[in-house]
Amino acid sequence: MNETVIVGAGLAGLFAALKLAPVPVTVISPKPLGEGASSAWAQAGIAAAIGEGDSVDKHAADTIVAGAGLCDAAMVRLIVGEAPRRIEELLRYGVPFDRDLEGKLKLQREAAHSEKRVAGINGDRAGKVIMETLIAAVRNTPSIRVLENTAALDLAVADGRVTGIHCYQTNAVHPEPFFLPARAVIMATGGAGQLYRVTTNPEEARGDGLAIAARAGAHVADAEFVQFHPTAIDVGKSPAPLATEALRGEGAWLVNSAGERFMERHHADLELAPRDIVARAVEIERLAGRGAFLDCRAAIGEHFASHFPTVYASCMEAGINPARALIPVAAAAHYTMGGVVTDACARTSIGGLWAIGEIACTGLHGANRLASNSLLEAVVMGGRAAEDMANADLPRTKPFALRPWPHQGAWDTPARTVPQAATLAHLRKSMSASAGVVRDQAGLAGLTSILGISERIFPIRPDIRNMRDVAMLIITSAYKRRESRGAHYRTDYPHTDPAQARRAPTTLTEARADYLTMAAGGATLTARGSMAAEV
Ligand SMILES: Cc1cc2nc3c(=O)[nH]c(=O)nc-3n(C[C@H](O)[C@H](O)[C@H](O)COP(=O)(O)OP(=O)(O)OC[C@H]3O[C@@H](n4cnc5c(N)ncnc54)[C@H](O)[C@@H]3O)c2cc1C
Repeated sequence: MNETVIVGAGLAGLFAALKLAPVPVTVISPKPLGEGASSAWAQAGIAAAIGEGDSVDKHAADTIVAGAGLCDAAMVRLIVGEAPRRIEELLRYGVPFDRDLEGKLKLQREAAHSEKRVAGINGDRAGKVIMETLIAAVRNTPSIRVLENTAALDLAVADGRVTGIHCYQTNAVHPEPFFLPARAVIMATGGAGQLYRVTTNPEEARGDGLAIAARAGAHVADAEFVQFHPTAIDVGKSPAPLATEALRGEGAWLVNSAGERFMERHHADLELAPRDIVARAVEIERLAGRGAFLDCRAAIGEHFASHFPTVYASCMEAGINPARALIPVAAAAHYTMGGVVTDACARTSIGGLWAIGEIACTGLHGANRLASNSLLEAVVMGGRAAEDMANADLPRTKPFALRPWPHQGAWDTPARTVPQAATLAHLRKSMSASAGVVRDQAGLAGLTSILGISERIFPIRPDIRNMRDVAMLIITSAYKRRESRGAHYRTDYPHTDPAQARRAPTTLTEARADYLTMAAGGATLTARGSMAAEV
């Protein structure tokens, strides 16, 4: 029996599986490997202070400034400090990072980075190529068993320890839940961008793992901080294709339909201002009916197809030649800063449960993620979880009994009947309108109608159930944070309040109680948490 299970096959999950070898591990993925993971869609690359004149101190300082007072300084130093070593490991797996004429890794500068420090591949294909390389390595590693077309439903926990995971087959017409016994589970299910109407994230980024861990009692923090990417390509596609930040790094600028370079009204760093500021500026132009467009004509022009092939293809598919025409852009849910609280070894508050990558909340990103720090976090924490697990003193009790899923007979799957399109559309539209780029108390309180979804989803449909639980965590945390900070902007509290410079860990049980208080008009609800930011 294979007793270690990794849930999710993005960069974090695959890197952890490789680092665990030769310890046997089962990786489950709802799609064939390479599909359904944000990692494969990453365009710019991975941040590491390896360039001339750069240093771990500078990388840490940039990360902490972006994090707007909520980063855990010790975790920031640990993660950015390990970047050079993890890049070396990726190179050893065969990842072909771009090099300059002298053979040194070629580094790009991105918004809010003080140095050129983003290692990329073929302009905008970093994620795709990194994933292809690691998938080939995984397929060649006999200790890794991959269960494709398999998704997690719920964790089984007894006496505070994980005993296994309930799963189902995503491609079966009539899937039956089955149980994978496990002494150790690593959750690596990525983010939750799909909770919003416009997102850059794949369909599988619904916060499944976050909801599953939270239902099992895991501590969660920073759920209110959702990063919106300012330049998703707005051509009516879902997920929205991305116009990578590297375009702005190369000098592309933003204009409205009157041709005004509107970032001049918002920040001295113009298009290279922090993401939340650019995203809000784009949203303001669009809400005012002026539209927002990325102008790459002077900065990139005829080099577009060769330097940014992915963006070029997305634009051309929509009939826009970005070398000669403006690209329409919108702010789109892009990255989930909050998640399952972990320590420096990726351990969660539940015995035998680790969490890595975008699902986790390590304290690296604080209130706002610095671009290209997430692939870095995925490999650093994936590596650390594997190293920790290999040495962990897991209980030696003998095989766990097969456990039936408690909701057997009362569930439905996305692949099966009941179309829930209207429920999903309502949830995503409501979240965008009231818990999106800008929020206020009345809007957030109005979202309590989402709670009604619990009544409307019988039989249980796992994706909607998970999205409802994550929505509840986001809404209650956003409601209780009565200030604006990083990616969380409240029109009724537009200023940052130094007294709230602390993270507020919570649980799903607390969030449910808060939700009911909100629904009953509980305007006095405040954050209970006290995890002070160490800056
Ligand atoms: C378009 C785009 C561009 C980006 N560009 C960059 C960039 O240049 N640099 C950077 O650092 N970051 C970038 N990011 C962010 C970065 O890609 C992600 O944060 C990172 O890849 C997350 O890795 P992960 O392994 O945690 O999650 P993912 O790569 O999303 O993998 C999650 C895995 O879990 C699986 N899963 C989901 N639900 C279940 C379930 N119920 N059961 C089992 N498995 C499940 C998914 O199918 C997937 O296999 C970008 C993101 C997007 C969307």
